Amino acid sequence: MPYKFINEHHAEAAAIFCIDFRFKDATIKFISQELKMKKVDLIALAGASKTIANPKDLAHKKTVFDQLEVSTKLHNIKEIILIDHLDCGAYGGLKAFDNNPEKEKKEHFKNLNKAKAILEKKYKGVKVKLFFANIKSNKIIFEKA
Ligand SMILES: [Zn+2]
Repeated sequence: MPYKFINEHHAEAAAIFCIDFRFKDATIKFISQELKMKKVDLIALAGASKTIANPKDLAHKKTVFDQLEVSTKLHNIKEIILIDHLDCGAYGGLKAFDNNPEKEKKEHFKNLNKAKAILEKKYKGVKVKLFFANIKSNKIIFEKA
């Protein structure tokens, strides 16, 4: 089945989110339907904000920055959307926080805000928006972080 191709080189934003398949559909829908953004570069890395704020391996941080170089220079993005999620394997999952969602959320918010400061310093004039994909009654809800 063919898909429509939009031949242009300006994107509105780059979105950085975790590779976790359980959040893929919701994340894509959230970006296009709730944030109303159609032209977005997608960067998926396990742990999302953790790769910038508190990387297990500095190569992960470099990978994010390499992708953002393309987004900022070639696609001229004006915003970076950074999305973490609950029960993230890169954080050890919910069990690493005694199955306490608030405890895990707190750690994500810390990294999200630290990552925001790093990104805004590196990419002047690019606005960074933070979100956290929470799970409530088996539904994924995106909260501002
Ligand atoms: Zn994850």
